[in-house]
Amino acid sequence: MTATQLVACLRCNAINRVPKLRLRESPSCGKCAAALFNGHPLALDAAGFHAHVERADLPLLVDFWAPWCGPCVAMAPQFEAAAAQLEPALRLAKLDTESQPALGGRFGIRSIPTLVLFRQGRELARQAGAMGTADIVRWARHHLPD
Ligand SMILES: [Zn+2]
Repeated sequence: MTATQLVACLRCNAINRVPKLRLRESPSCGKCAAALFNGHPLALDAAGFHAHVERADLPLLVDFWAPWCGPCVAMAPQFEAAAAQLEPALRLAKLDTESQPALGGRFGIRSIPTLVLFRQGRELARQAGAMGTADIVRWARHHLPD
């Protein structure tokens, strides 16, 4: 376990080195001063995916979804509530597979919603199908034994 965590900024994607003990003290970005955590899922595009999954080492839980998918839309408030509970141990993000089809294809997403947990650019776990807040939180914590 390292003493610092690399956290990508929600606004400018800059990589910030944050001491783990300071994660809960509302850290802000050294480049643009935005809060590094806001309790809400982040909407990912290709640049955001690169920063938050491939360069940062903070675990990231991604909801692969689409606006036309009824179960995805129904799960959105559950996922939102899970973000407030799980940050800052990990970040929650949403990836719209309709507007970002290349990323959905790259990870072989066959059905939505699918949750994928990443750490340091590697996939740790995935789960297809809608879940409630308590199940999302339990599932994420189960796959992050820290
Ligand atoms: Zn920033």
